[in-house]
Amino acid sequence: YVPLDKIPTWANHDNNTATEEEERKSFSLADKVSLYKGDITILEVDAIVNAANSSLLGGGGVDGCIHRAAGHLLYEECHSLNGCETGKAKITCGYDLPAKYVIHTVGPIARGNVGQFQRDDLESCYKCSLKLMKDNNLRSVAFPCISTGIYGFPNEPAAEIALKTVRDWILSNQDEIDRVIFCVFLETDYEIYKRKMSDFFSPD
Ligand code: ADP
Repeated sequence: YVPLDKIPTWANHDNNTATEEEERKSFSLADKVSLYKGDITILEVDAIVNAANSSLLGGGGVDGCIHRAAGHLLYEECHSLNGCETGKAKITCGYDLPAKYVIHTVGPIARGNVGQFQRDDLESCYKCSLKLMKDNNLRSVAFPCISTGIYGFPNEPAAEIALKTVRDWILSNQDEIDRVIFCVFLETDYEIYKRKMSDFFSPD
Protein backbone atom coordinates (compact mmCIF):
# COMPACT_ATOMS: atom_id res chain seq x y z
CA TYR A 1 0.00 0.00 0.00
CA VAL A 2 1.03 3.59 -0.56
CA PRO A 3 0.34 5.88 2.42
CA LEU A 4 -0.54 9.51 1.83
CA ASP A 5 2.75 10.81 3.27
CA LYS A 6 4.66 8.83 0.61
CA ILE A 7 2.85 10.61 -2.25
CA PRO A 8 4.66 13.87 -3.01
CA THR A 9 2.57 17.01 -3.42
CA TRP A 10 2.74 18.91 -6.70
CA ALA A 11 4.96 21.47 -4.95
CA ASN A 12 7.51 18.67 -4.46
CA HIS A 13 6.93 16.76 -7.68
CA ASP A 14 10.07 15.85 -9.71
CA ASN A 15 8.74 17.37 -12.86
CA ASN A 16 7.30 20.53 -11.41
CA THR A 17 8.61 23.27 -13.65
CA ALA A 18 7.17 26.18 -11.66
CA THR A 19 9.67 28.88 -10.83
CA GLU A 20 10.43 29.63 -7.20
CA GLU A 21 8.44 32.83 -7.44
CA GLU A 22 5.40 30.99 -8.80
CA GLU A 23 5.68 28.40 -6.06
CA ARG A 24 5.80 31.06 -3.38
CA LYS A 25 2.66 32.75 -4.69
CA SER A 26 0.55 29.59 -4.76
CA PHE A 27 2.33 27.48 -2.18
CA SER A 28 -0.80 26.26 -0.46
CA LEU A 29 -2.51 25.20 -3.69
CA ALA A 30 0.41 23.14 -5.05
CA ASP A 31 0.70 21.63 -1.60
CA LYS A 32 -2.79 20.21 -1.71
CA VAL A 33 -2.61 18.22 -4.96
CA SER A 34 -0.57 15.31 -6.28
CA LEU A 35 -0.07 13.57 -9.60
CA TYR A 36 0.27 9.82 -9.09
CA LYS A 37 0.61 7.23 -11.84
CA GLY A 38 -0.56 3.75 -10.95
CA ASP A 39 -3.29 1.61 -9.45
CA ILE A 40 -5.79 3.62 -7.40
CA THR A 41 -6.72 0.57 -5.29
CA ILE A 42 -3.42 0.62 -3.37
CA LEU A 43 -3.72 4.21 -2.15
CA GLU A 44 -4.15 4.60 1.60
CA VAL A 45 -6.31 7.72 1.58
CA ASP A 46 -9.63 8.69 3.12
CA ALA A 47 -11.49 8.00 -0.13
CA ILE A 48 -10.88 6.83 -3.67
CA VAL A 49 -13.31 7.77 -6.40
CA ASN A 50 -14.75 5.07 -8.62
CA ALA A 51 -15.68 5.80 -12.25
CA ALA A 52 -18.80 3.66 -11.93
CA ASN A 53 -21.74 3.04 -14.22
CA SER A 54 -25.31 3.96 -13.31
CA SER A 55 -26.12 0.51 -11.91
CA LEU A 56 -23.27 0.81 -9.36
CA LEU A 57 -22.96 -2.96 -9.64
CA GLY A 58 -19.46 -3.10 -11.05
CA GLY A 59 -18.08 -3.21 -14.57
CA GLY A 60 -14.78 -3.07 -16.40
CA GLY A 61 -11.83 -0.71 -16.08
CA VAL A 62 -11.17 0.98 -12.76
CA ASP A 63 -14.63 -0.07 -11.49
CA GLY A 64 -13.75 -3.75 -11.89
CA CYS A 65 -10.37 -3.23 -10.19
CA ILE A 66 -11.99 -1.47 -7.21
CA HIS A 67 -14.66 -4.14 -6.75
CA ARG A 68 -12.09 -6.95 -6.97
CA ALA A 69 -9.82 -5.27 -4.43
CA ALA A 70 -12.61 -4.25 -2.02
CA GLY A 71 -14.33 -7.64 -1.93
CA HIS A 72 -17.95 -8.74 -2.11
CA LEU A 73 -19.15 -6.55 0.77
CA LEU A 74 -18.67 -3.54 -1.51
CA TYR A 75 -20.97 -5.17 -4.04
CA GLU A 76 -23.53 -5.81 -1.30
CA GLU A 77 -23.52 -2.19 -0.16
CA CYS A 78 -23.66 -0.91 -3.76
CA HIS A 79 -26.60 -3.20 -4.38
CA SER A 80 -28.56 -1.41 -1.66
CA LEU A 81 -28.01 2.04 -3.20
CA ASN A 82 -30.43 1.82 -6.13
CA GLY A 83 -27.96 3.03 -8.72
CA CYS A 84 -26.75 6.56 -9.36
CA GLU A 85 -27.51 9.20 -11.99
CA THR A 86 -24.92 10.51 -14.41
CA GLY A 87 -23.01 13.41 -12.86
CA LYS A 88 -23.97 12.43 -9.30
CA ALA A 89 -22.07 10.48 -6.62
CA LYS A 90 -22.72 8.07 -3.73
CA ILE A 91 -20.41 6.96 -0.93
CA THR A 92 -19.72 3.50 0.51
CA CYS A 93 -17.18 1.94 2.86
CA GLY A 94 -13.87 0.76 1.41
CA TYR A 95 -13.96 -2.76 2.94
CA ASP A 96 -10.75 -4.62 1.95
CA LEU A 97 -9.25 -1.51 0.32
CA PRO A 98 -6.66 0.56 2.18
CA ALA A 99 -8.92 3.56 1.47
CA LYS A 100 -11.60 4.09 4.12
CA TYR A 101 -14.35 4.99 1.65
CA VAL A 102 -15.24 4.72 -2.02
CA ILE A 103 -17.08 7.55 -3.73
CA HIS A 104 -18.88 6.16 -6.76
CA THR A 105 -19.59 8.67 -9.48
CA VAL A 106 -21.10 8.12 -12.90
CA GLY A 107 -19.36 9.97 -15.70
CA PRO A 108 -20.98 10.95 -18.99
CA ILE A 109 -20.82 8.60 -21.96
CA ALA A 110 -19.02 10.60 -24.64
CA ARG A 111 -17.78 8.13 -27.27
CA GLY A 112 -15.31 10.68 -28.58
CA ASN A 113 -17.78 13.59 -28.80
CA VAL A 114 -17.95 16.27 -26.19
CA GLY A 115 -20.84 18.70 -26.07
CA GLN A 116 -21.81 21.02 -23.25
CA PHE A 117 -23.98 18.36 -21.57
CA GLN A 118 -21.06 15.98 -21.27
CA ARG A 119 -18.75 18.73 -20.02
CA ASP A 120 -21.29 19.79 -17.38
CA ASP A 121 -21.84 16.19 -16.27
CA LEU A 122 -18.11 15.54 -15.93
CA GLU A 123 -17.65 18.72 -13.91
CA SER A 124 -20.58 17.66 -11.76
CA CYS A 125 -18.89 14.28 -11.05
CA TYR A 126 -15.90 16.06 -9.54
CA LYS A 127 -18.05 18.57 -7.64
CA CYS A 128 -20.45 15.99 -6.20
CA SER A 129 -17.53 13.77 -5.15
CA LEU A 130 -15.80 16.68 -3.41
CA LYS A 131 -19.08 17.67 -1.75
CA LEU A 132 -19.40 14.13 -0.33
CA MET A 133 -15.84 14.43 0.99
CA LYS A 134 -16.75 17.61 2.80
CA ASP A 135 -20.08 16.29 4.12
CA ASN A 136 -18.30 13.24 5.58
CA ASN A 137 -15.34 15.17 6.99
CA LEU A 138 -12.89 13.31 4.76
CA ARG A 139 -9.63 15.09 3.95
CA SER A 140 -7.74 13.11 1.27
CA VAL A 141 -9.12 11.77 -1.99
CA ALA A 142 -7.80 10.16 -5.18
CA PHE A 143 -9.57 10.58 -8.53
CA PRO A 144 -9.12 8.36 -11.59
CA CYS A 145 -9.55 9.93 -15.05
CA ILE A 146 -13.35 9.70 -14.99
CA SER A 147 -15.08 8.86 -18.31
CA THR A 148 -11.86 8.69 -20.35
CA GLY A 149 -11.79 4.90 -20.64
CA ILE A 150 -14.76 2.87 -21.78
CA TYR A 151 -16.94 6.02 -21.80
CA GLY A 152 -14.71 7.67 -24.41
CA PHE A 153 -14.39 11.26 -23.14
CA PRO A 154 -11.31 12.71 -24.90
CA ASN A 155 -8.37 12.78 -22.48
CA GLU A 156 -7.24 16.37 -22.83
CA PRO A 157 -10.56 18.17 -22.26
CA ALA A 158 -11.35 15.69 -19.47
CA ALA A 159 -8.08 16.59 -17.72
CA GLU A 160 -8.83 20.31 -18.06
CA ILE A 161 -12.26 19.88 -16.48
CA ALA A 162 -10.78 17.77 -13.66
CA LEU A 163 -8.00 20.23 -12.92
CA LYS A 164 -10.17 23.34 -13.11
CA THR A 165 -13.00 21.93 -11.01
CA VAL A 166 -10.64 20.66 -8.31
CA ARG A 167 -8.69 23.93 -8.25
CA ASP A 168 -11.85 26.01 -7.88
CA TRP A 169 -13.08 23.70 -5.14
CA ILE A 170 -9.84 23.88 -3.16
CA LEU A 171 -9.79 27.67 -3.47
CA SER A 172 -13.18 27.93 -1.82
CA ASN A 173 -12.76 25.02 0.65
CA GLN A 174 -9.10 25.34 1.63
CA ASP A 175 -9.57 24.40 5.26
CA GLU A 176 -11.77 21.42 4.50
CA ILE A 177 -9.36 19.38 2.37
CA ASP A 178 -5.76 18.22 2.77
CA ARG A 179 -5.02 16.48 -0.51
CA VAL A 180 -6.50 15.68 -3.91
CA ILE A 181 -4.55 13.07 -5.87
CA PHE A 182 -4.98 12.83 -9.62
CA CYS A 183 -4.41 9.10 -10.08
CA VAL A 184 -3.62 8.52 -13.74
CA PHE A 185 -3.17 5.03 -15.10
CA LEU A 186 -2.00 5.57 -18.66
CA GLU A 187 1.18 7.25 -19.86
CA THR A 188 -0.86 9.53 -22.16
CA ASP A 189 -2.80 10.88 -19.18
CA TYR A 190 0.37 11.23 -17.13
CA GLU A 191 1.88 13.39 -19.89
CA ILE A 192 -1.26 15.53 -20.21
CA TYR A 193 -1.57 16.12 -16.45
CA LYS A 194 2.15 16.78 -16.05
CA ARG A 195 1.95 19.44 -18.75
CA LYS A 196 -1.20 21.09 -17.35
CA MET A 197 -0.73 20.86 -13.57
CA SER A 198 1.49 23.94 -13.42
CA ASP A 199 -1.10 26.02 -15.29
CA PHE A 200 -3.73 25.23 -12.70
CA PHE A 201 -1.76 24.86 -9.48
CA SER A 202 1.32 27.00 -9.73
CA PRO A 203 1.12 30.47 -11.31
CA ASP A 204 -1.00 33.33 -9.88
P1 ADP B 1 -15.13 5.12 -17.67
O1 ADP B 1 -16.17 4.06 -17.90
O2 ADP B 1 -15.63 6.23 -16.76
O3 ADP B 1 -14.54 5.63 -18.94
P2 ADP B 1 -12.81 3.38 -17.15
O4 ADP B 1 -12.58 2.56 -15.92
O5 ADP B 1 -13.04 2.66 -18.42
O6 ADP B 1 -14.01 4.40 -16.77
O7 ADP B 1 -11.58 4.36 -17.35
C1 ADP B 1 -11.31 5.47 -16.52
C2 ADP B 1 -9.81 5.60 -16.30
O8 ADP B 1 -9.40 4.67 -15.28
C3 ADP B 1 -8.95 5.26 -17.52
O9 ADP B 1 -7.91 6.23 -17.62
C4 ADP B 1 -8.34 3.90 -17.16
O10 ADP B 1 -7.08 3.72 -17.79
C5 ADP B 1 -8.18 4.09 -15.67
N1 ADP B 1 -7.94 2.89 -14.85
C6 ADP B 1 -8.18 1.58 -15.14
N2 ADP B 1 -7.81 0.81 -14.10
C7 ADP B 1 -7.34 1.64 -13.13
C8 ADP B 1 -6.79 1.45 -11.81
N3 ADP B 1 -6.67 0.24 -11.27
N4 ADP B 1 -6.39 2.55 -11.12
C9 ADP B 1 -6.52 3.79 -11.64
N5 ADP B 1 -7.03 4.04 -12.86
C10 ADP B 1 -7.42 2.97 -13.60
